Amino acid sequence: MQNTKPHAAMLASPGMGHLIPVLELGKRLITHHNFQVTIFIVASDSSTTKSLLKSTNPNLTIVALPLVDIPALVNPNDNIVTKIVVFMRQSLPFLRSSISAMKSRPTVLVVDLFGTEAFPIADEFHMLKYVFVTSNEWFLAIAIYSPTVHNLVQVHVNRKQPLEIPGFRPVRFEDTIEAYPIMNFDRVYGEFSRVGIEIPMSDGILINTWEDLDPSTLEALRDDNKLGNVTRVPVYPVGPLVRPVEFAVHGNPEILKWLELQPSESVIYVSFGSGGTISEEQMIELAWGLELSQQRFIWVVRPPVNGDVSASYFTVGQESDAIKSYFPDGFLSRTHNKAGLVVPIWAPQREILAHVEVGGFLTHCGWNSSLESITNGVPMIAWPLYAEQKLNAALLAEELRVAVRPKTNPTEGIIGREEIEMMVRNIMEDKEMRNRVKMLKNSAEKALSKGGTSYNSLSLVAKEIKVHGF
Ligand code: UDP
Repeated sequence: MQNTKPHAAMLASPGMGHLIPVLELGKRLITHHNFQVTIFIVASDSSTTKSLLKSTNPNLTIVALPLVDIPALVNPNDNIVTKIVVFMRQSLPFLRSSISAMKSRPTVLVVDLFGTEAFPIADEFHMLKYVFVTSNEWFLAIAIYSPTVHNLVQVHVNRKQPLEIPGFRPVRFEDTIEAYPIMNFDRVYGEFSRVGIEIPMSDGILINTWEDLDPSTLEALRDDNKLGNVTRVPVYPVGPLVRPVEFAVHGNPEILKWLELQPSESVIYVSFGSGGTISEEQMIELAWGLELSQQRFIWVVRPPVNGDVSASYFTVGQESDAIKSYFPDGFLSRTHNKAGLVVPIWAPQREILAHVEVGGFLTHCGWNSSLESITNGVPMIAWPLYAEQKLNAALLAEELRVAVRPKTNPTEGIIGREEIEMMVRNIMEDKEMRNRVKMLKNSAEKALSKGGTSYNSLSLVAKEIKVHGF
């Protein structure tokens, strides 16, 4: 019998931050729009990725593309973006042969940010092609504008000036993505600009945000007079797509049991995402800051790494018991179970943030973490480390005002214990900030519910795909 469902192929870049929203988008296409979905994933061998995939919707077809030998292709000191791009590029021949061999050929290819080089494959098989930006509208604006930046001589010469994109809030250079402040037109910048050129070659851009988060930026993205090239393709905010609560990698019931014994909104959760690390000196200051704040905490800790803030990106989930030796003397015995919990390597973040006992989140500002915080009404301390995290921090702290930021840039200096103590107290006590984030939570729920803006956006995309291939 012929398959009567539209078939979407999706390509996810390495990293939990990409894979999680791609899986969620796939699930929504299945459950709300009756699609068949095949997700191709790259670099799928970490234990965390495996657990995530094990617990995912059985109706999703997952195809793990063969692993490529990345050490042979990149320098260990290369930026994380370079590594991801190399992984993706090497996987394209496998993607092509898999699609070519499919009996029920997909009619659309949805790639995330680092997958735009797969567009010629979509063209070859007469498929529609969409980009799913797993980040926010600020990031999309910067990505699309990046090919233009090297023409702005005065910006290049004087990096102290904010980046002024027509129609957008000026952004400090140091808060743009990592590739910009480098500005020596190295490999990262080159790859990022290429992506900026390729995104508008799609049939549409899906983005993990919603209309009411920052309406003026979305409006500018759609305005012919602002960014001429992007406005040729529609922008569909379909988010916030966050992982549902039932999934728990390395789930540790003790954490949740402890959490449930604490008063409402009394615990600060501290985590630097799936790949972030801090230095040994910073770890000691953070331990002191938490203890001095006298607030309860859950802190997900990895062994410190001096000088490489994305050190765990590809090794996420690997266990280590070397952590204990890095804390100040007596910290663990003074705080354990009473003031807080230290959790090695990985915690069930989504489940933790959904608990009413959590009242704050010290986060590296990965976009998934930011959305998980917002959708649970939890205010943040923004502690960005790499990639587009500083941009997210600026959006959260300055535009949405649901986060505080340290005065010291976390990648340039050490944030001292007193400042940490003060920030922790601030977010736990600031009622106005808490109200603002709860309002955002409500607007996110509305956008995703039936008839809401994000629901309708994805319905439009689904309709286009059905018209094209069915
Ligand atoms: N995460 C988790 N437990 C951890 C660390 C991270 O469950 O200990 C999840 C987190 O909930 C989020 C994802 O991993 O869904 C991280 O994505 P994000 O975009 O925040 O940052 P990235 O890790 O990509 O830098």
